[in-house]
Order: sequence, then structure tokens, then C-alpha cells
Amino acid sequence: MNAISHRNIQNGTSPFEDQFGRQKRKLRISVTDRCNFKCVYCMPEHPQWMRKQDLLSFEELYQFCDFMVRRGIEHIRITGGEPLMRQGVVHFISTLQQLKKIGLKKVSMTTNAHYLSQYAAALKQAGLDDLNISLDSLDAEQFLKLTQKQLQAVLDGIQQAQEVGLPIKINAVLIKGMNEDQILPLAHWSIQNHCVVRFIEFMPLDGDAQWSKAHVVTEQEILNTLKQDFEVTTQQGKSSEPARQYLINGHPIGIISTISNSFCGTCDRLRLTAKGEFYNCLFAPQGMDLKTQIQGLNTQQSDARIRLHHTLLEYIWHKKQGFDVIQQEESTFKISAKNIESRKISMYMIGG
Ligand code: SAM
Ligand code: SF4
Repeated sequence: MNAISHRNIQNGTSPFEDQFGRQKRKLRISVTDRCNFKCVYCMPEHPQWMRKQDLLSFEELYQFCDFMVRRGIEHIRITGGEPLMRQGVVHFISTLQQLKKIGLKKVSMTTNAHYLSQYAAALKQAGLDDLNISLDSLDAEQFLKLTQKQLQAVLDGIQQAQEVGLPIKINAVLIKGMNEDQILPLAHWSIQNHCVVRFIEFMPLDGDAQWSKAHVVTEQEILNTLKQDFEVTTQQGKSSEPARQYLINGHPIGIISTISNSFCGTCDRLRLTAKGEFYNCLFAPQGMDLKTQIQGLNTQQSDARIRLHHTLLEYIWHKKQGFDVIQQEESTFKISAKNIESRKISMYMIGG
């Protein structure tokens, strides 16, 4: 065991840290892999859902969150699949508020917003701090092609969230030949609707493994398009946010350029799937099955806590410097198709 691990064990409240000195402050919890959308860049044609009896209960997830907040986690994001499809998620968010007394600063959710009109007020009441909402097109026909669902429900959900005072950011995944014509409409819309849009480069995490670099709209291409209508300036300042920050005519936007400019160097995130697989990286070829150990936390036995603490220290410590699929062999794109094929996890399971 290394020096930093020893230090962390001695002081149980130190944040988890990896071998490159990146402290872990953010935890993403996927509460379900199920989704009512079928986004072309995410959901496979024939998804094999996790069995309901295999999922961790909200009580077990709460115990895990408590455990992690006591070890430095300050921000929890609830994601999926579609998190609003799991019954009890609003109550779960309200229980997480208790952890704000012991160091949790923020509880967020990522959602497709289809059910948001129905849930926005309850989420606000439950103490949710903010929302990331996926919106890849403002063209109803194109939206239907991309997601197999209607655009209007999402726009209504966004409006409702803003009416109840939930801060929102918009996530837009761009795919070449499908929706790169939405860069300018979404940028103008974000200014009119007083919110930030983040354009996301298509990542090789789609369920049917159809990704290819030819489908990626790069950060540079996005900037070039934005410059047609806006004065684009870079926002200064280092942050652990995956999005690189720009201003368009003074209004903030972000670009998550995982493929052309990986954000691994400042990564402070950890991830748990709905059935208790833990990932130290979005691109790790496989996770660590923590289900039994997490269920052990319910017994209140200190042994279970110490065991889990040690397991996590080791696993997190060994996080790689850059994601597994990076190879330095190509100058513009650093993804190796060989490594992608070995992956078993897709975005709808790990939650982004
Ligand atoms: N269903 C929710 C939603 O769509 O917002 C939450 C889960 S979804 C997996 C989380 C985020 O991952 C969304 O913003 C989605 O656009 C993004 N995403 C899914 N597949 C992706 C891919 N292959 N490349 C880049 N982003 C992807
Ligand atoms: Fe569902 Fe979100 Fe994946 Fe789209 S991106 S299929 S809404 S989980």
C-alpha cells in the first residue's frame, strides 16, 4: 500500500484520491438503466434491462451516499437510464438532504425531461439543487428521429423546471450528419431562455457500439459554427467541470470535448450503477462489483465500513491517468477502436 493510502486510512475523512493526486468530490449514481427514450447515440436496439431484484434499494443507496460523503464527496448527481422512471426517486432526493449537515453541498439530476412537468415542483420541494436536461434538437421531426419521443413534452418540462426555480443546464450531443445543424438554433435558444447549453462530443459509449470518429462533431467544428453568428471568447479559469467554458456574445456556453480534448487531467468523479458496480472512470472496461459490500453497510457493523473503505482506496488509487481507450497514435482523435470493442458498459447503464 502506498503513502497516500496510509494517510487516508489514518484519517477516515480525507477525500479519496488517485495515484495522480486527483481528489474525488463528485459521485454519480445511476438509479435505473431503464429509459423511455431510445436515443441513437445511447440506447441499443434491444436493451437487456437489469432485473429489478438486482438493483440496490434506495435505503442501500442512501447508506452508500452517507459513507461517501463522510469520505469527501460534496456533489451527488442522480442519473440513469431515465432517473424519473424509478419510483421513489423524489423521496430519495429528499433523504439525501440530511447529508448536507455532514458535508454534501449539492444534489443534482440528469434527465431527459419527458416527465419533468409532472415532477419539477416535487423535485424542488425535495431539495434538488439543479438539473441537466438533454435536448439535442429543436426540430420536432429531428428530435423524434434522435430519441423516438416527442419534443414538446421536453420543452414543457424545461419551462416547468424554470417556473419552479430549478436552475438548468442543457446537454446536447452532436452527431455528424444528424444534428450538427442545431448548433446555432440551440445557442440562440439558450440565450432567449436564460440557460447554458453544453455541446457534447459523441462518445464511444452507445449501446450498439456503432460509434466511429467520423460521427464526432469536434470542439473546433462547434466553435467554427458558433463564430458564424456570435463573438466567441474563452472563459478563463481552471475547473474540474468536464465542459470547456466559452462566451457567445457574453452568454456562457460549454463544450464537452471528451474525444478531441479529454478532461481526464482534472477528473474528480466516481460512478455507481443501479446494481452496485462502481467505476473509477467513465471509460473503464469494467467496474468493481460492490453490491454485497454496500448491502453490508446496513448492518451498522464497523467491519463492513472498514472493508469497503479499503476496497475503494485501492480501486480509486489505481485509476489510470487517461481513459483506457486513449492511445497516442493519432493526432486529432485519441480513441482506439480495439479497446472500445472490449467494453461491457454503455451510457444508459452508467449514466454519463
Ligand atoms: N436519461 C437522462 C438524460 O438523457 O439526460 C440521463 C442519462 S443519460 C445516459 C446522461 C447523459 O449522457 C445525457 O446528457 C446524454 O445526452 C449523454 N449521452 C448518452 N450517450 C452518449 C454518448 N454516446 N456520447 C455522449 N454523450 C452521451
Ligand atoms: Fe435514455 Fe438518456 Fe440514453 Fe437518451 S441519453 S436513451 S434519454 S438514458
